[in-house]
Amino acid sequence: DPVVRMRAVHKAFNVGLPNETEVLHGIDLDLQPGQFCAVMGPSGSGKSTLLNIVGLLDRPTSGTLAIAGEETTALDDRALTRLRGHAIGFVFQYHYLLSAFTALENVMMPMLGDAGFPNEAMRVRAAELLDSVGLKKWQDNLTGHLSGGQQQRVAVARALAMNPALLLADEPTGNLDTKSADAVFELLRSVNRAHGMAILFVTHNAALSQRCDSIIQVVDGMVLDREAA
Ligand code: ADP
Ligand code: ADP
Repeated sequence: DPVVRMRAVHKAFNVGLPNETEVLHGIDLDLQPGQFCAVMGPSGSGKSTLLNIVGLLDRPTSGTLAIAGEETTALDDRALTRLRGHAIGFVFQYHYLLSAFTALENVMMPMLGDAGFPNEAMRVRAAELLDSVGLKKWQDNLTGHLSGGQQQRVAVARALAMNPALLLADEPTGNLDTKSADAVFELLRSVNRAHGMAILFVTHNAALSQRCDSIIQVVDGMVLDREAA
């Protein structure tokens, strides 16, 4: 099964109101396990809206979406939340780490209350993930005291907590300097290779997009073309 299989997805906002606007106009998208795909396109073209739908944070107005083989259209909110928690990790530009908690505590958060992770297993896994992103020494620091690049590494470690089949990264390098952006990209590349999850990586950075497995261009709410990177 593909990790993402999207067919004829339309998304309109303010449906039924005078200001109704359709922003996605029939998107087809397939993402295979382990595929690292860049998503490019001008500001306002619909990339975030597309990612929100793939991430089960928002629903299409019409069309179908299967995540990891599970058709989502008919699922209720509770089932969507459950599927999201197990199948999808998020690394967004504004990372929403809890600054008053340590790196270790932040990475443990997605595992809280999951029967698969008793307390000690949770702590061990979080420590391993932080080690794998090069933050072993900083695991007990408050994230509010870490640098921007280090915080983004914590966010990546946290996104991997549930071993998702899909990682969604919405401009994770957008507000970093070139060197930190490069480091975060290399980190995504290495977790992609090590853990084998598929990644959708929204970026305005053409050089980084060329280093992905594939690129899709979103223009005016449509996917223009696919090219091999
Ligand atoms: P991008 O991520 O490519 O910059 P977005 O998906 O954020 O594009 O936005 C695409 C279009 O949809 C924009 O015109 C934006 O203003 C509009 N849009 C996004 N979210 C909403 C919303 N909740 N309500 C109304 N319009 C929205
Ligand atoms: P980006 O450019 O990264 O997509 P935006 O600043 O366009 O971010 O959007 C930030 C948030 O505001 C998103 O959740 C988006 O859905 C929402 N949004 C964007 N445009 C509109 C709009 N016209 N009306 C309501 N919400 C919007």
